[in-house]
Amino acid sequence: MSAPAFALLPHPAPVADDVRAAAIADPAFGRVFTDHMVSIRFSGAKGWHDAQVMPRGPLSLDPATAVLHYAQEIFEGLKAYRLDDGSMALFRVEANAARFNASARRMAMAELPEELFIAAVKEIVRVDANWFPKVAGGALYLRPFMYASEVFLGVKPSAEYHFLVIASPVGNYFKSGAPAVSLWVSEDYTRAAPGGTGAAKCGGNYAASLVAQSEAIAKGHDQVVFLDAAEHRWIEELGGMNMFFVFEDGSLVTPPLTGTILPGITRDAIITLAKDAGLTVREERYAIDQWQADAESGRLTESFACGTAAVVTPVGKVTRGETSFTIGAGGPGQTTAMLKDKLVAIQRGQAPDPYGWVMRL
Ligand SMILES: *Cc1c(COP(=O)(O)O)cnc(C)c1O
Repeated sequence: MSAPAFALLPHPAPVADDVRAAAIADPAFGRVFTDHMVSIRFSGAKGWHDAQVMPRGPLSLDPATAVLHYAQEIFEGLKAYRLDDGSMALFRVEANAARFNASARRMAMAELPEELFIAAVKEIVRVDANWFPKVAGGALYLRPFMYASEVFLGVKPSAEYHFLVIASPVGNYFKSGAPAVSLWVSEDYTRAAPGGTGAAKCGGNYAASLVAQSEAIAKGHDQVVFLDAAEHRWIEELGGMNMFFVFEDGSLVTPPLTGTILPGITRDAIITLAKDAGLTVREERYAIDQWQADAESGRLTESFACGTAAVVTPVGKVTRGETSFTIGAGGPGQTTAMLKDKLVAIQRGQAPDPYGWVMRL
């Protein structure tokens, strides 16, 4: 089946220049959206069809639309950057396209040809190229997603799907200005179990994590650390970011991809960059008690979380029940900063890209 060409339906009344300029001056994460969206439909009979770049607007859904009942929905998140020379670039979009299909398979959804995913992402960036924020650290955050659109209440995989891409200018993810985040270890809730959907980027995983996140916020922390479902002992990840631990001897540990954590593209990039900087990276389980003991003894010097939205975020403090421990000096450490700088320099076209991660548009 050949990929359909996109019909362009330009927005008849795009946001006025002065209003857009104010909106993108320093946008909060995920609050401001561009003028357009991409929409592609799937049905068993027609395959992928009706590809459009169209004015962004509400969707009209029948109340019996399958996703509203059984949560068959997946998404991706990636950023487009405006480089110093004025050109635009995407970071590792092929990896997002491949992961989207891995998620689709796990959720028994139709797979989207990878070249169609990439074409859709390029379309939205090109049509809304005037929405890049000027703020330092800013980017155009892209959210491809797909939901089960069949109107049917039977419990089975939907026969129809709707794929969309929306775009949102973003500044820095954590607005607090704090140098490091404070984490709450969830001892009551788990995010994912063996055989479950933890490795799929599906909305349902987030729905299940929100009660723990609310608990963390209510107790004055920024994010939750989830432990494994079986033993409540091994560190898995945050609600939407992977974890790294840095030791005195310069080595790093990150939890392995055993099916219960999300295979982050930032995680993968950090592993590559750390190894190429001469550091040892071990993908192995790390226990919560060990984390505390190592932080207290000084064997562990830094910890950070990573993901597309917040890039690399140092961890300053961890709380479990009534006890807390501080990581290093409680602020960003040297290895964390070095890896973040290397990653950001490649993403922004300010350093050579020996890995072929950056796709210029
Ligand atoms: C998206 C996501 C990440 C980070 O993945 P990146 O590809 O680095 O953005 C980590 N954990 C979860 C649960 C996620 O959904």
